[in-house]
Amino acid sequence: RELIEIQNVFRTYVDDKENQVEALFDVNLSVREGEFISIIGPSGCGKTTLLRLLAGLDAPTSGALSINGHEIKSPDPERGYVFQQGSLFPWLTVEKNIASGLKARGVYQKQKQDISHYIQLIGLAGFEKSYPHQISGGMAQRVAIARALINRPAALLLDEPMGALDSFTRADLQEKLLELWKKNHTTMILVTHDVDEAIFLSDRIVIMTPRPGQISEILKIDLPRP
Ligand code: ADP
Ligand code: ADP
Repeated sequence: RELIEIQNVFRTYVDDKENQVEALFDVNLSVREGEFISIIGPSGCGKTTLLRLLAGLDAPTSGALSINGHEIKSPDPERGYVFQQGSLFPWLTVEKNIASGLKARGVYQKQKQDISHYIQLIGLAGFEKSYPHQISGGMAQRVAIARALINRPAALLLDEPMGALDSFTRADLQEKLLELWKKNHTTMILVTHDVDEAIFLSDRIVIMTPRPGQISEILKIDLPRP
């Protein structure tokens, strides 16, 4: 079953010199429910732009994006978004950062008992009361993932979540992400620079190819699961 449909999406920015920058040019893509898809491509090819459109943080210049048949118009916890780094509230503990995912949806009272489950799931038991500056970068990314997952999103959008991590921590988080995906079957859309990471984690890799100022080609490679 197709979960996400991206049809003829264009996104043109106007930069500060009034030049038109075509970040996305006629992008078409469908993502099946439960699929783990990676989007790879060089810097500036439009990966973050596409993910922001999927998150509802930005709108296409033309074209349509939908999830479960509904047009994507604004941010919704149905699509959890995990940034490269630094997205935790520094003034809140690990536990409260995860709770903020529930509070944003007004279901904190109903689901607060889930918090300890997600803390266990991401391997952070014992760090509930720690603040972001007291934990490592890899742990912070786990918290960001838990904060998104606790809302049981239909899809998790991951923008280079391991981009700022050293290779050991990165491998560790990759394992964790794969384990979570196998357990929950949340649809995953991962943006990465790292081809090895994309091959290790995903069912399918989408390559964005930049031409001057535009995305003109998307190649899809279906990989067998290991
Ligand atoms: P990637 O994530 O693949 O590095 P981006 O989606 O961040 O690429 O950017 C795609 C293109 O759009 C780049 O040329 C970038 O400079 C341009 N761009 C992105 N955001 C803006 C913006 N807010 N204003 C102007 N140009 C932008
Ligand atoms: P409580 O003591 O009820 O748990 P918190 O201090 O944890 O309340 O804050 C409640 C929520 O409000 C947090 O989950 C956080 O998302 C949000 N919040 C708190 N302070 C700020 C702030 N300065 N800017 C933006 N959001 C904030």
